[in-house]
Amino acid sequence: MSFNTGNKMKSFEEYFEKNMKNNTSKGDTQSNNMNNKKQFDNKNNKLNNKDGKKAFGKKQNNANKNFNSNKNNANNQNNNNFQNSNQSNGQTYIERMTAKNRKFLEHYNPKKDAKIKIIPLGGLNAIGMNITVIEDENDIIVIDCGNAFPTEDLLGIDLVIPDVTYLKRNQNKIRGMVLTHGHEDHIGAIPYILKELNMPIYGTKLTLALVEGKLKEHKLVGYKLNTVNFSDIIKLGNMYVEFIKTNHSIVDSAALAIYTRAGIVMHTGDFKVDYTPVFGDTIDLTHFAEIGRMGVLALLSDSTNATKQGFTMSERTVGKIFDSIFNEHNNDRIIVSTFASNVDRVRQVIDTAAKYGRKVAI
Ligand SMILES: [Zn+2]
Repeated sequence: MSFNTGNKMKSFEEYFEKNMKNNTSKGDTQSNNMNNKKQFDNKNNKLNNKDGKKAFGKKQNNANKNFNSNKNNANNQNNNNFQNSNQSNGQTYIERMTAKNRKFLEHYNPKKDAKIKIIPLGGLNAIGMNITVIEDENDIIVIDCGNAFPTEDLLGIDLVIPDVTYLKRNQNKIRGMVLTHGHEDHIGAIPYILKELNMPIYGTKLTLALVEGKLKEHKLVGYKLNTVNFSDIIKLGNMYVEFIKTNHSIVDSAALAIYTRAGIVMHTGDFKVDYTPVFGDTIDLTHFAEIGRMGVLALLSDSTNATKQGFTMSERTVGKIFDSIFNEHNNDRIIVSTFASNVDRVRQVIDTAAKYGRKVAI
């Protein structure tokens, strides 16, 4: 992809317009069963767009206005239709933002009087069932869709899922679901919600692999899973979502920077700052700082144990302790308990067992 950081690239919107036109890439759609129907829908939308003018080849001025103005005009509506149809067709607008082309972020210029809604449908003041809605006038994105596990007073209940009545009422505004990571409390409710509300889903590789397993388990086909890499930015309606590398007890965890017309909403997902993670890179603090310098409208941050003083040790220190325990007890049976979702820890148990020639039963 060629990128021009000169004054020809004036705005976010232009950048994407350009890429949508010239560089639209097929998303990593994992299932195509619904494509025929969607293509039909797409055709219809295209026809609609003909008289609705400028869906794709819009002039740059209009592009700017669309991102910056709050007006619910016909043109805007048509654009939304068009984007939807493209997304439904398995095409997504995923572009890598390398250090070089991040320069265009400098052109991001939120409007002081623009308003957005941030609606937590679950996950606040509780553990589990994380789901947050960001609404920017005509566009809604859904962040995560987790389940909670029933408390003792919920006898006979296997799983608690969020109430998505609000989403059902505003179904036509939904542009997609973006996922921070693959833990149950962030993806566990997806199969149940998707049965009622179909939408394209975006996430990193491991996260989507776990979602795919769930969809198979529920025998759901035809849903759109689009793999995103760190530093990719996607356009969903009037919003742009950037995936930023973080550390957590499961790999491929991301924070999301959501560029809305009103400003940047920073959603950290679950995270820890681990300078020596067991697997993969460290959290991209540099980019957090860059976004901080740009100014953040709202920070939505994980708060589990946030009231405890100090900081969490690197996961790798657990590995060292495993090593000394395995070394000391090479003829004894060793029992390790951990959250199944702590993938890095399970990995460390297996690595240490392999090092000492031990067998593992899970
Ligand atoms: Zn988590």
